[in-house]
Amino acid sequence: MVERDIITHTDVVCPFCGSLCDDLEVDVSDNKVVEVRNACQIGTQIYFSSNPDNPDRYKKPMMRKNGGLVEVSWEEALDRSAELLANAKRPLLYGWSSTEAEAISRGIELAEITGGILDNCSSICHGPSIMAIQDAGIPASTLGEYKNRADLVIFWGCNPVHAHPRHLGRYSNFIRGYFKKDGRNDRYMVVIDPRKTHTAQLADLHIQVNPSEDYELFSALRSILRGVEVEEESISGVPIQQIRDLVEKMKNCNYGVIFFGLGLTHSLAHHRNVENAICLTRELNDYTKFLIQPMRGHYNVAGSNIVFSWNTGYPLAIDFSRGYPRYNPGEYSTVPVLLRDEIDVSIIVATDPVLNLPGPAVENLLKHPVISVEPHETPTSALADIVLPVKISGVECEGTAYRMDNVPIRLRKVKDGPNGLLTDREIMKILIEKVKNLKNQ
Ligand code: SF4
Repeated sequence: MVERDIITHTDVVCPFCGSLCDDLEVDVSDNKVVEVRNACQIGTQIYFSSNPDNPDRYKKPMMRKNGGLVEVSWEEALDRSAELLANAKRPLLYGWSSTEAEAISRGIELAEITGGILDNCSSICHGPSIMAIQDAGIPASTLGEYKNRADLVIFWGCNPVHAHPRHLGRYSNFIRGYFKKDGRNDRYMVVIDPRKTHTAQLADLHIQVNPSEDYELFSALRSILRGVEVEEESISGVPIQQIRDLVEKMKNCNYGVIFFGLGLTHSLAHHRNVENAICLTRELNDYTKFLIQPMRGHYNVAGSNIVFSWNTGYPLAIDFSRGYPRYNPGEYSTVPVLLRDEIDVSIIVATDPVLNLPGPAVENLLKHPVISVEPHETPTSALADIVLPVKISGVECEGTAYRMDNVPIRLRKVKDGPNGLLTDREIMKILIEKVKNLKNQ
């Protein structure tokens, strides 16, 4: 047996969820990941999935011919992609949440020169949170501050044990902070969720709110905080005494934080839920220090909002058809655009709409040519007309990503990608040049 050298990379940043854990150690031998330490199970998987023996990994560009995807040359795949984009009347450029900021920036240029609809995954996750923040502002801080100071931690409509597995251990609960030396024993943990989730099972208090009645519960908390005598015996399925006790806990903590998830953005009041939560947080600051933080899902979905904003002024749902950016979630977001069957071609970068979007929207997406920029086979890439395979950001190339608290973190490269593959940003650069040439002809 031939012994191979193992290179250990330390302080590696996990490119999977919005926690962007930056303490991973990855052992690489002969350009293969052989061990990952400190990551959770899903974070570990992204490193092993990059190995060349993964059968789901694309190694060559593919194009649909006679009904099936066949390998083609880079020239053919890129030329055809550029042709489709240059000739489209209303292309959709969607995704951008699991790639680096540099690629997103180039994607915006591609949207501008093609006059397309530009949108990121937040339009189906925390888009309502962003709209609420635009209305009401947000009293937020960094994960490091919560770790060092929070003594009351509330998880509302989120289940980090499954969605952000190391969040509790690194930032919000079990971790010892500078002013919270005893970690979990120094914090009181509340979970507000209709279900007894695994996170709820770890809490000191689980408040079982009725589904889609969060808005009423926020309003009750705000009313009681203002000294209003509420006559009902329960609100949103929660006994009034439990609501009063929670208000007292909130007022009397030294540093409280509400982490909230899609349980708020996807239930009936959508962005109004989040606006009400922000107003409650702001009013609690008359008594103590209180903050609020969305639990962002994909590792750079916060980055896609930030990079969109610094380039166009808007964080998502942007229409370039008039040559300048216009913003209107609900009109230019991916799902309504697809439901109206407006697009004539799409380029999907680092996401999987076939898996995530409603059926009728997917049906309309697949009526028109789909270009999928993706390292692995996904339901979207399997049904695409062109697949442009890429190196995995944060594993096979560097880049910048924004953690859920909007802190930028540099992703690290731990191994080379398969021979001949380009990065997302290189693909964008080539497409921009080719589309410009075609439009100038
Ligand atoms: S919690 Fe998220 S960022 Fe941290 S290791 Fe797991 S998947 Fe990666």
